[in-house]
Amino acid sequence: MSETMYLIKNVKLYTGESIYPDGAVLTDGPSILYAGDVAKLTAPPLKGRKIEVIDGRGGICMPGLCSAHSHVAMTILRGVGGGLPLSEWLQRIFAIEALLTDDDICTGATLAIMEYLRCGVTCFADMYIRADGVLRAACEAKIRANACVGATSVSDVAENEALFHEFDGEGGLLRVYLGIHSEYATDKSVATLAAETALKLGTGMHVHVSETSEEVDACRRRHGGKSPVTYLCDLGIFDIPTIAAHCVHVDEGDMETLASHNVTVAHCPASNMKLSSGAALVAEMQERGVKVAIGTDGPASNNTLDMFREMRLAALLSSLSTKNPASLSAADAITMATVVGAQGAGFSDVGILRAGYTADLIIINGEAPFMATERDVVEDIVYVAAGGDVQMTMVGGQILYLNGKYTTIDTERAIYEARAVMSRLS
Ligand SMILES: [Zn+2]
Repeated sequence: MSETMYLIKNVKLYTGESIYPDGAVLTDGPSILYAGDVAKLTAPPLKGRKIEVIDGRGGICMPGLCSAHSHVAMTILRGVGGGLPLSEWLQRIFAIEALLTDDDICTGATLAIMEYLRCGVTCFADMYIRADGVLRAACEAKIRANACVGATSVSDVAENEALFHEFDGEGGLLRVYLGIHSEYATDKSVATLAAETALKLGTGMHVHVSETSEEVDACRRRHGGKSPVTYLCDLGIFDIPTIAAHCVHVDEGDMETLASHNVTVAHCPASNMKLSSGAALVAEMQERGVKVAIGTDGPASNNTLDMFREMRLAALLSSLSTKNPASLSAADAITMATVVGAQGAGFSDVGILRAGYTADLIIINGEAPFMATERDVVEDIVYVAAGGDVQMTMVGGQILYLNGKYTTIDTERAIYEARAVMSRLS
């Protein structure tokens, strides 16, 4: 966490709640002291410290983005199984994943974190076959992250518990949830053990839920007509704070269950479209009170890690599937991609630029051509801006990415190591 005080000025500020055409943000260490109109900023107590000024050059300052569901190490598997449906795609993926070492996973995760930071992502929630490498990569990069093992066995749960003790709370940046891959890949005894372990540790859960119609049909056959949502709820999973990834095929009863329990749905529009899984009923879930965040999913089924594209796709897919262009507003898409995801990942003071909240924020380049005709900040963030327009990414009051340069990642080494893994696997 940073001890520096930064004053960001000369920006259009979107706090997640309000717009300030001439805004300013003042940070003190990891926290925000002030976010609002520059004219109302008063001199803070300096206690002998200097303030470093960041000139936003007319750009947009906004909360950092949070990907609520990912498998970051899968940068190494990008391009595998293009054109295959989920079940066949997974078989290809599982065969390669069996060859990955913990260091390979760390290498893949570091590469993904580089992409996330340059696209303005300050927080991600991850599930993978093993999570040690993901947590080590996040720890070194100083990005905010939540990780778990997508357990399919008792030993996976034990590994997840050990990781909780090693990493949860580290630097105020890391959370470790318990993970179960899914109803179809995790048997009842393992799922129950994971839930009991999460309860004991006072942490959350992360699970894939109702991604395809085939998954739901097979679950109903296996479990006396229960949908994956009902099955997991009956196991007590949803009494624990849970990230439920996808939830594409849910009925009214499922939505009621999701809304009345401590669940954050991670909507992954690009992955759902690429694998032909379907269009999640986001507007309908939200109307019924379900919390819905946005995730990139893994880079092997997206294939980018650009949350700007993901917000845009979420809004466009909702408009297309409901035939209502107002079904998911640009402001809603940003809320989903920031504060809802961060809270689902266990970070309660992240995702809004407000005094007392954590200084996780980004600046979109004021020299991007669209900024010359900028009329509606919120619409432009969702429908025009892209990851490549991000100029600065700050997490916990520390600048991690500025004008193409990373402050915590040795990029040459990261790329060299990723190439070495690729050549070994080929
Ligand atoms: Zn996934």
